[in-house]
This record gives sequence, C-alpha cells and structure tokens, in this order.
Amino acid sequence: MFNMACYPSRPAIRRGLAGLLVVCAGLSSRIASSEPADWFPDPPTLRHYVWNYQPCLTCEAYAAPLAWQRMAALAGLQTLRFFHSSDETLGPAYSAAPDVIVLTPSALKLEACQLAFVVGHEIVHIAQRHFDEDANAFSVYSGKPGNWTGIGEDAMQLSEGNFGLALRVSHLWQAQEQEADWIGALLSAQASGCGIESGALAYLRQEIEAGGGVAAAHAPSLDRIRQLLPFADSAKRLVELGPR
Ligand SMILES: [Zn+2]
Repeated sequence: MFNMACYPSRPAIRRGLAGLLVVCAGLSSRIASSEPADWFPDPPTLRHYVWNYQPCLTCEAYAAPLAWQRMAALAGLQTLRFFHSSDETLGPAYSAAPDVIVLTPSALKLEACQLAFVVGHEIVHIAQRHFDEDANAFSVYSGKPGNWTGIGEDAMQLSEGNFGLALRVSHLWQAQEQEADWIGALLSAQASGCGIESGALAYLRQEIEAGGGVAAAHAPSLDRIRQLLPFADSAKRLVELGPR
C-alpha cells in the first residue's frame, strides 16, 4: 500500500495491499448503479484530470465476482476495469488512474474476506479520486497556475526527482491510505458480509506474520489495525444490512 519511497517514481500507480483481479479484457465493466451508498463519503470537488494509463502488456482482464461489482456500485463508480498480472513488483494489488485495479497471484490466494478488503481499499482510491487529488497537490505545491495542464500524468511528472515535493505531499498520501482502509473495510462489510475481524484485521495480521513477527518495520500494519478498530461496529451494522 502506502509506500512513500516508491510512489513518487510511479506517479499514476498506487501501490496496493495484496495482488488483485480484473474484469473484461480491456473493456470497462459497466456497473448497474452509479448512485453511491448513502453512507459513502462525497469525493473531493476538484478538477477532473485526463489519465492515459494503459494496463501492462502482460496484464489480462479479470472477471470480477459479483461482490466486487457490488462494492464498486456502493462507491458510486460507473466503470471499473480489473486485470490480473503475474508481476508482483508493485505489490499484490494496486490501482491506477482512472479506473484500473490490478491483482497478482498472491492477492488471489487470500481468503475471500481479506481479498474483499484489499479490493475495497483500491476501489476507494479510485472512487475518492485520490489520483486527481495528487495531481492537483503536485501542481499547487509546485506553484503552477490553476489550468496549466489537464493531463494527470503531466502533473505527476512534477514529482520526478523532486523528493522535497514528494515529502510535502506525503501527509496527503497518509490520509488517503487511512481513508482507503476504513471505507474499503466498510464496502467489503456491506457487499460481502465481511466484518473487520475476518477482512481487514485478518489481512493486516497475516502481513505482519509474513514479515516474521511484530518488528518495528511492521509498525505501519499495526497502526492500520489501530485506526480500523473504531469502525468495527459500523462494519457489523453494514454486514447485517447487506447489499442493496
Ligand atoms: Zn492504498
């Protein structure tokens, strides 16, 4: 997920939690509802950048299970493209502007509720327009005039080789990752019936265990668990409510 060291060098891609999936080879998956759930937060009101990201050459379209389509609908997304990639160098799962989620074999091996959390997390990055938010932040912090570019990739290029700029935006990335965690956990609760314990917390705990124990290097996963706990009751209520 959040990885400040890598992210600036891969501007239009957000490192994921654990590999993921995708639907419809190269075609956008049409999602029935574009009205988000009433509890789903409004995305920020800022300009819509044009993004030209093309999934990797070796990525294959991946058919999203119904539960993932439900999560996208709850988030108000009209289109979402899922892909599978055998390349895990960017992490088990990641999202890319404007509407792409890529999953790798390690993500697809996860328990269903852990995977639902991972997918939900990436859906939130897209639905909450985190890529547009980043492009806007890079432009503003670089002192560019408001309309200097409408191309997202152009704005993200501003961070190339500019570690100071990346540092100034890092607080925004941390906030986005927290948002993706808690909203993603709630999406998976309502769409898949996954509570915080079987989804988000189980995923983060196995991440810690895979690293060989609770070492300082895994503090981020512990922080994420702590930040998710206040949403356990809300997730329980959404599990009971069920998909629309
Ligand atoms: Zn993330």
